[in-house]
Amino acid sequence: MKTWVILVAVLFGAATAFAQPAREKLRVATRPVKPFVLQDGGKLTGFSIELWEEIARQLNVRSDFVVKPTVRELLEAVRSGEADLGIAAISITAEREMRWDFSHPMFDAGLQILVPAQPAGIGFFHNLVSGVFSSAVLPLVAAVAGIILVPAHIVWFFERRAPGGLLIHRSYFPGIFEACWWAAATLATQADQMPKTAAARVAAVIWMFTSVVFIAYFTASVTSSLTLHELRGEIDGPEDLPGKRVATVSGSTSVEYLRQQNAEPLEFTDIEEALDALARERAQAVVYDAPVLLHYAARQGRGRVQVVGPIFRKESYGIAFPPNSPHRKPVNEALLKLKENGVYEQLYRKWFGAAS
Ligand code: GLU
Repeated sequence: MKTWVILVAVLFGAATAFAQPAREKLRVATRPVKPFVLQDGGKLTGFSIELWEEIARQLNVRSDFVVKPTVRELLEAVRSGEADLGIAAISITAEREMRWDFSHPMFDAGLQILVPAQPAGIGFFHNLVSGVFSSAVLPLVAAVAGIILVPAHIVWFFERRAPGGLLIHRSYFPGIFEACWWAAATLATQADQMPKTAAARVAAVIWMFTSVVFIAYFTASVTSSLTLHELRGEIDGPEDLPGKRVATVSGSTSVEYLRQQNAEPLEFTDIEEALDALARERAQAVVYDAPVLLHYAARQGRGRVQVVGPIFRKESYGIAFPPNSPHRKPVNEALLKLKENGVYEQLYRKWFGAAS
């Protein structure tokens, strides 16, 4: 009798266990974008993946990841119903908000610029050459080469008949060359010869004072042009982008930004390819999501590239849903809970170092 009771109890227990609904499974579209999503030997990890796993734990759901190559395809998968939601580094934009629904912001990002790093030695030499031959200094040098002809002709005209004067040769050639040499030497404050005739001396004194003023002006121009080159590379901020060849990732918000700025976007599927284009000098800079660029510059790109200028277009990442998705509200609640209980903070610290 006792055995029967136990048997019935066991069967009843098993039946109720089987009757419990299976945990719901959500299809989650994503795409590799370091350090938010990375594929580590077939396994997905990264800030966004771990954040999603925490959310899934809160919601008590299982997840199946669907990996897409671009953010555009990721969003299309969400829209077409191939996936229930999408998480990676998806920027919430006004245009996307019309076709998808988004969770609360899960990460504050924005766009930034990456350029090749300037090695110190080469940088100095390059700056010196480009400073001296800059658009400010070169016309000045050309103007002076022309102006020298004026005192040279005056001195040649008066001195050519003065025996024992400045000129050895009386004829125009090569007499004028001697006069030019004298004018150039005086300009460089190296004058050691004096004309004999009174008229030529007057011209010489005027030329000497003109030279002093010119040298002061020339020194000031070279100095300021050098300082400018020292302080500014070719591309230092968003204001330098118009007209430049800039590599970025196709389908991303950066492409549209670059078009608005009249820059020439070179689109690649992958940030690695965009960085490769920079290394091969096919592009002058890379514009893309700031956290991705900073991550690269601090790791694989260390010493070879540098991030310059401020974050110029602030964007927030969100989890994308098809319109009116029943999952949005519970996901938002879970996300807020993770921010409140410190789990979000821990994940942020793990992947980005400093506190959010
Ligand atoms: N955050 C950008 C966007 O949503 C880039 C994302 C990506 O390339 O994965 O357009």
